[in-house]
Amino acid sequence: MKIHEYQARNLFADYGIPVAEGDTAQRAGEALAIARSIGFPVVLKAQVLVGGRGKAGGVKVVFNENDLTAEFNRIKNLNIKGYTVDRLLIAKAIDIKKEYYLAVTIDNIKGDVVVIVSAEGGVEIEEVAKTNPDKIIKFYMQGTKTLDEARWSPVAAQVFSDPSLQKSATAILQKLLKLFFDKDCSLAEINPFVINGEGHLMAADAKVIFDDNALERHLELLALRDLKYEDADELEAKDKGLSFVKLEGNVGCIVNGAGLAMGTMDTVNLLGGKPANFLDVGGSSNPAKVLNALKIILRNKDIKVILINIFGGITRCDDIANGILTALNQIRIPVPLVIRLTGTNEKEAKALLTSAGLTTYTSMRQAVTEAVRASKA
Ligand code: GDP
Ligand code: MN
Repeated sequence: MKIHEYQARNLFADYGIPVAEGDTAQRAGEALAIARSIGFPVVLKAQVLVGGRGKAGGVKVVFNENDLTAEFNRIKNLNIKGYTVDRLLIAKAIDIKKEYYLAVTIDNIKGDVVVIVSAEGGVEIEEVAKTNPDKIIKFYMQGTKTLDEARWSPVAAQVFSDPSLQKSATAILQKLLKLFFDKDCSLAEINPFVINGEGHLMAADAKVIFDDNALERHLELLALRDLKYEDADELEAKDKGLSFVKLEGNVGCIVNGAGLAMGTMDTVNLLGGKPANFLDVGGSSNPAKVLNALKIILRNKDIKVILINIFGGITRCDDIANGILTALNQIRIPVPLVIRLTGTNEKEAKALLTSAGLTTYTSMRQAVTEAVRASKA
């Protein structure tokens, strides 16, 4: 789950990471009141959950009231990578002397948490990573969660030679790590991490992403969610007790169990097809779930076939079959259904479906082969 900069900087402040004073505004009048109270110059920043706002014209330092109003209105009307701007952050402008980069994230390939630092922070960080990768320094946690100064001080020393900057950079990194682990983040990033006019380090931007799978441990974070940036189908699926992730392909998949759902997607790929989604109806076999799953999948206009793959354990195959029959009565299904059922009450299920004129399979490979064929027909 991504959160806005203004929310992330509040978290930074809670953890003692220095940020500039500021507040958000939805109207120019509110922005003006904030600017008057903190004093000019201020920076206006579009609050959208996508990166590269600076390059898109969504970040601007202003020095007087007229410019503030004009720039507020300009940024408010921007469309940044397909998103409108509902809110701006108005913060005391930092007199930036130099921009660094500091982040904690997960390296999925190494299966480890990594601290990333660079003396070349700012809006070009991705370019630096491409053209000058040696300017981006990585430190792996090696499975630990250590916040020890002795571990992190040499890391800060890679970028800061001045002892007092080294000391404060170490302290900020320790705080960023604490936040990262406390809140089960997948990213906690400061870019740019800056030296201000007084020679102090500050976070001039704040980006935090939480691991969705850990949100149950942090119910207080759910209030930070901005639904505008989430896939409507995925939200509805979650609401209906389905785990659903939309993908690019054209083979709709309805499966019971996350492991089997992954295995089904792998098999579709292996046999030359492209899955359109991950969908786990879960362990229970409520027929309504099958109906809801079909409705959500059918909204995807790329779908050429729906593959239903059920391995009945706790899930009863006849409940699934009843769900399919209910769906056929209630909604039009304009694509072929390929149904594989095995396990609990398989016989009953197959009898129900066969009498409705549907073909069923017992072997997963046969069913997937048929689904892939239909997706190309
Ligand atoms: P992003 O492009 O979405 O990452 O937005 P940032 O918040 O990182 O801002 C982009 C750039 O705007 C930064 O790299 C800075 O160069 C500049 N910027 C942001 N805040 C300030 C500020 O307070 N003062 C000054 N002078 N520049 C700023
Ligand atoms: Mn930034």
